[in-house]
Amino acid sequence: MRSIEHWIGGASVAGSGYATVYQSATGQPQAQVAIGGQPEIDQAVATAAKAYESWGDTSLSRRTKVLFKLRDLVERHEDDLARLVTAEHGKTIEDARGEVIRGREVIEFACGIPQLLKGAYSDQVSTGIDSYSLRAPLGVCAGITPFNFPVMVPMWMHPIAIACGNTFVLKPSERDPSASNLVAQLYADAGLPDGVFNVVHGGKPAVDALLDHPDVAAVSFVGSTPIARYVHQRAAASGKRVQALGGAKNHAVVLPDADLAEAARQITSAAYGSAGQRCMAISAVVAVGTAGDELIELLAREASTIVVGPGDQASSQMGPVITSEARERVITSVNEAQEAGATVVVDGRGLRVEGHDGGYFVGPCLLDRVTPEMAAYQQEIFGPVLVVLRADTLDEAVRIINSNPYGNGTALFTSGGAAARRFVRDVTVGMIGVNVPLPVPMAYHSFGGWKASLFGDTHIHGTEGVAFYTRGKVVTSRWPGRAETIGSDFHFPTAS
Ligand code: NAD
Repeated sequence: MRSIEHWIGGASVAGSGYATVYQSATGQPQAQVAIGGQPEIDQAVATAAKAYESWGDTSLSRRTKVLFKLRDLVERHEDDLARLVTAEHGKTIEDARGEVIRGREVIEFACGIPQLLKGAYSDQVSTGIDSYSLRAPLGVCAGITPFNFPVMVPMWMHPIAIACGNTFVLKPSERDPSASNLVAQLYADAGLPDGVFNVVHGGKPAVDALLDHPDVAAVSFVGSTPIARYVHQRAAASGKRVQALGGAKNHAVVLPDADLAEAARQITSAAYGSAGQRCMAISAVVAVGTAGDELIELLAREASTIVVGPGDQASSQMGPVITSEARERVITSVNEAQEAGATVVVDGRGLRVEGHDGGYFVGPCLLDRVTPEMAAYQQEIFGPVLVVLRADTLDEAVRIINSNPYGNGTALFTSGGAAARRFVRDVTVGMIGVNVPLPVPMAYHSFGGWKASLFGDTHIHGTEGVAFYTRGKVVTSRWPGRAETIGSDFHFPTAS
């Protein structure tokens, strides 16, 4: 069976233990991945710390040269990366290609690092004194990432961290680890010095070793809310800078003045694309006023036509979920919602994909008459389940969203500018779409939710990413002439 090893110091490093990587479309083992712990993290952090001694000093033009090359290599290997993602994650090839492109856009942003790191200079802040501020790298940074975007989410982190002069240890999801090793190879091919980018595979022991390591300066985490909260607390307790992005329940509000057919099409793709395993997936619709009945009919029609199948089959629009446990979780959530009084309008629980009986497939599920008290609404199901709630007014819809503990993404469908403006101002959510169902910010804006969807102060990538991976320095300097004397005085310095 194929082995996926750690990547430390520019070379493959065998694991002391291994876990199986399954193919979600068949349920069959397809590879084994090295599982690291304290020794592998110690080795990777020591290697990254050593590499930082020279990388942190490398000129901006040398750093950007590597990033430009990496950007071209990622484009050239788009298909290879997408195929690895589809084989291990299960999403369709087109969807996987989309995440590679969105990841590459962060590299493109990072190619502009000389402009982004430009400091500020003030001449003559006091007589004979100038002052300038600059951003300095932190040292060794760590990234801990989820299964659902094995290329894009790590790329939210490492290109910017490395462009800023840091070195990096990535601990990707153990469920779909291969793409990270190919990215490591592409960095090496782009001329990145050994040890600047490292990959240690594994689960909780590897994560804990990173969180506690005294030589790790900063931790970026993306994953579920309970683990994000834990990572934030534990990394902060050991004095690290930390940003921890968590789970979501993203609402789409549909007003009666929206083009309902168009809204239904867009919501359907945002709810069931990637089998609902996106942190920005629409998982709850709030139908306002008279929009409800017609919208349900349209959503049901759209959901019933989705072609479910293996991700590498051209006709498939939706692949399997990641594990058999995830499949069980989806089915249990729908069962419980039904028992609690929800109407199952489209039922994907019994779906079978021919020739793929062992695969972790579950079809699109659409639930109507869901209330905020039901578990199917309160929990992040992270599967192809869309729940529909009803509200009498836009204000009530906003109250529902704002009472939800998550605040990652939301969307409003309307033809009215005034309602849209009010919605944008009033919702306590980090990323908002107006007639856009998946408002995933471009690389040059920052990505991040509010409330239980993000722990920490900075969003990820964009200029907030640059701020996260650097710290400020302000220099106040005087170059007195030979004969000039400054003398001593004991009052607090003020400008003269
Ligand atoms: P997860 O929280 O199970 O795992 C994320 C990472 O944490 C993995 O690398 C995993 O190995 C590690 N991990 C798991 N359990 C751990 C533990 N007990 N202690 C320490 N580390 C642990 O998440 P997942 O299932 O891989 O990904 C899906 C989740 O990620 C969803 O909740 C989704 O909403 C969220 N997500 C959020 C965003 C965002 O931007 N907010 C983006 C993508 C995914």
